[in-house]
Amino acid sequence: MVKLPHSFAMTTDNPYRALPSVDRLLADERLRPLGGGERPVVTQLVRQALETARGAVSAGRPAPTQDQIVESVLGLAEDVFHPTLRPLINATGVIIHTNLGRAPLSEEAIAAMAAVSSGYSNLEFDLEAGERGSRFLHLESVLQQLTGAEAAMAVNNNASAVLLALSALAHDREVIVSRGQAVEIGGGFRIPDVMRQSGGRLVEVGTTNRTYPRDYQDAITPDTVAVMRVHASNFRIVGFTETPGIDDLARLAHEHDVLLLDDLGSGCLLDTTQFGLAPEPTVQESLAAGADLAMFSGDKLLGGPQAGIIVGRSELVERLRRHPLARAVRMDKASIAALTATLLHYLRGEALEKLPVWRMIAAPLAEVRRRARRWARGIGPVAKVVDGRSMIGGGSLPEESLPTKLVAIAGDGAYVTDLARRLRRGDPPVVARIEKDALLLDPRTVPSRQDSTVIQAVTAALSE
Ligand SMILES: *Cc1c(COP(=O)(O)O)cnc(C)c1O
Repeated sequence: MVKLPHSFAMTTDNPYRALPSVDRLLADERLRPLGGGERPVVTQLVRQALETARGAVSAGRPAPTQDQIVESVLGLAEDVFHPTLRPLINATGVIIHTNLGRAPLSEEAIAAMAAVSSGYSNLEFDLEAGERGSRFLHLESVLQQLTGAEAAMAVNNNASAVLLALSALAHDREVIVSRGQAVEIGGGFRIPDVMRQSGGRLVEVGTTNRTYPRDYQDAITPDTVAVMRVHASNFRIVGFTETPGIDDLARLAHEHDVLLLDDLGSGCLLDTTQFGLAPEPTVQESLAAGADLAMFSGDKLLGGPQAGIIVGRSELVERLRRHPLARAVRMDKASIAALTATLLHYLRGEALEKLPVWRMIAAPLAEVRRRARRWARGIGPVAKVVDGRSMIGGGSLPEESLPTKLVAIAGDGAYVTDLARRLRRGDPPVVARIEKDALLLDPRTVPSRQDSTVIQAVTAALSE
């Protein structure tokens, strides 16, 4: 038998006795809006709060009152019923921010998602024939029109597009990649690892900074199935460098009867030099040069939903569609709808006006300045408008930036860090850029309809 301490035997002194019962708490008025005892989750939260209260007692603290326990149940409910994934305001000036969800969608893309999600659709149904169809066909014609590709398909993201292509085409075969391109894209996506996972054998050629056509040529064996180019999306090697262009690679690959695979990363359809940015390789150039398959993301510079788009020769795309992995990495109907709507903006020649990513890139400096001034006026004398740069970000155009106007709130490191934290904890959260002696807010990455929300959020955070 367990021997209880004296105080436990004396029920009048037992502090646990002061705690309300589960039933009594469930009957409390203040918990009624949660649905009370009929909802198992509420009973569970009550038990959880009581457990914490017992913990306090066993640690020698006074027993929490019923009011305090009800408060903690309400706090727990607030956490449980609040989705952790929330919209926020990106005032960092990084246009394609992977941690903040990459590309915002156009209104048309959002409407297309809603339309196809609120009911049934012909996702895999051929309306003419009245029989089973393929989900891969919905995007094909618009992608053919835009890129000139013979065939096209889209999967969950570009990482799965590359994995699928290598699995379907390079299993037990060799794929030649320049040492300067055997890279890590981020989030643990490393070309050598993806190659291993696909069953392909990576043959690295050249050096980190210099690879010549003859390096590829010397590495071709009867086991070689492809040469692959990987776009260096998130870094740049400068100085004494050399990499064959896509034209040279195509010529070389085809002379030796091997495939040319092109992982474009961001996959741009527009000319970036019109905005004073470095040229980002376009999908059209890659195919025109002779890439057999080109792969790119839907939610980087394309400005659409998360997706991996694969364009190229019919016979290869067909092999990818039939591979078992294609089923595992397929896109869902809402994303297919959003991607189609996004691509249609390009086809109609309205991408710069309709797609938020391109609107932000194309926003004239005068407009950004006007908004920065409005923010600064709204916030008060602590806010100053200063020159700065907006970053493209997101594995596109490494190191490339656009001139911008920032709202700066000066302060020492601890003050600025704390202010940024208060902004992140607001509703909606505002994410700012922190520099050592200032908090910086870039209007370029904030839709103008949220100007007053930003001013209010900053004002509240400053007065907290
Ligand atoms: C971003 C990127 C990927 C991964 O694309 P996700 O759409 O994020 O899966 C693959 N390759 C390159 C070169 C990239 O830049």
